[in-house]
Amino acid sequence: MVEIRKPIQVAEAVDRVMSHVQQLDTELLSLEHTYGRILAEPIVAKHDVPPFDRSPYDGFAIRAEDSAGASGNERKSFQVIGEIGAGHVADRPIERGEAFRIMTGALIPEQADAVVMLEQTVETDTGFTLRKPFDAGENISRQGEDAKEGDQLIEAGTIIHPGTIALLATFGYSHVRVAKKPIAGVLSTGTELLNVEDELMPGKIRNSNGPMIRAQLARMGIEAKSYGMMEDDLDACTEIVERALKETDVLITTGGVSVGDYDYLPAIYERLGAKVLFNKVAMRPGSVTTVAVLGNKFLFGLSGNPSACFTGFELFTRPAILAMMGCKAPYMPRIQATLGEDFKKANPFTRFVRATWEMTAQGIVATPAGFNKSSAVSSIARGNCIIVLPSGTRGFESGMTVDVLLLGAEQGVEQWDL
Ligand code: AMP
Ligand code: MG
Repeated sequence: MVEIRKPIQVAEAVDRVMSHVQQLDTELLSLEHTYGRILAEPIVAKHDVPPFDRSPYDGFAIRAEDSAGASGNERKSFQVIGEIGAGHVADRPIERGEAFRIMTGALIPEQADAVVMLEQTVETDTGFTLRKPFDAGENISRQGEDAKEGDQLIEAGTIIHPGTIALLATFGYSHVRVAKKPIAGVLSTGTELLNVEDELMPGKIRNSNGPMIRAQLARMGIEAKSYGMMEDDLDACTEIVERALKETDVLITTGGVSVGDYDYLPAIYERLGAKVLFNKVAMRPGSVTTVAVLGNKFLFGLSGNPSACFTGFELFTRPAILAMMGCKAPYMPRIQATLGEDFKKANPFTRFVRATWEMTAQGIVATPAGFNKSSAVSSIARGNCIIVLPSGTRGFESGMTVDVLLLGAEQGVEQWDL
């Protein structure tokens, strides 16, 4: 008898997954290896930035008071007593009527309190003249104007991107405490599957899910252990899943989670004693997506249908993995856009449509990326986002405002209201 499964809402499914996340340990890495990792400690300013008053321009450092009263008719003249390149310091303070030639980034000499840009001067034999007065502090990059010593600048749980790396380097974080990465495994099930390099044969298709999931993991900076492909054989699959679970924190399988005669994942979860969090979600594609936990291990049973498999990963696996690493904003950013074409198919389930977004004169327009069944592979290749169409009986028309999830964004958001 075919088992009747009761679908749960997507938000509920995401919650169930996220509430089972256990955070991984941390490790200390050298800065150059931290790109894409999650900070396990906040970034605290170890000193002021800039660490000293410095010149933002190439020009002359002066005492502002010496420029008082300067005008076109009454030019004030300055004597240049030396030059300070970036990285150098003045050999003495300046005095009345004196100036140092100064370069961008150089420390302001003692007694100087303004910088005059080169273009604002007229050269003389011993220096230059000025036609306007300067205020104390004018054209000076103040010590601490960017960051003050002791300030917490970036929270723990933030993803490290190139800008974060710059900040870490600024403060001399040669080693950074980050979350460990989970060990992820990928196993594709299906007797119909061929390797990428194989010739097609009747009834067979090439395994596209395995390479796709590994690439979705790679996009998160995670290399996966590949467990290859398995025929639909209960004993053999159980054995490999058992082995994979010993070696991984997260095991992602594709295929075999429906209620067909050869869909063995449900039986495997039962044999292993894994707790199934859900096995039916009110979404299209991917309603059969199943997530189970065994101890502190996650089993993501994604559908074999490529679009469903892709979507299941982005909705459930990706945020779970990021949260395991302590990421505070593990969800794809969501924006609103104008639907670029009619989507008439009504659905009782929330629909996730592979789509492309672009900026137009009318604002951001998101358009479905072509053939959009759950078995579709072409639309995943074309899409750069996912349109979320709420459940309901009516279709959607071009011009309506819809929610769009952005794929591949570096920084995520803390919440999703799906
Ligand atoms: P299943 O989830 O096993 O019922 O498979 C659903 C559909 O996805 C079937 O048409 C399968 O042939 C196809 N499929 C399963 N696994 C893969 C895979 N790894 N790559 C591409 N298509 C697959
Ligand atoms: Mg199958």
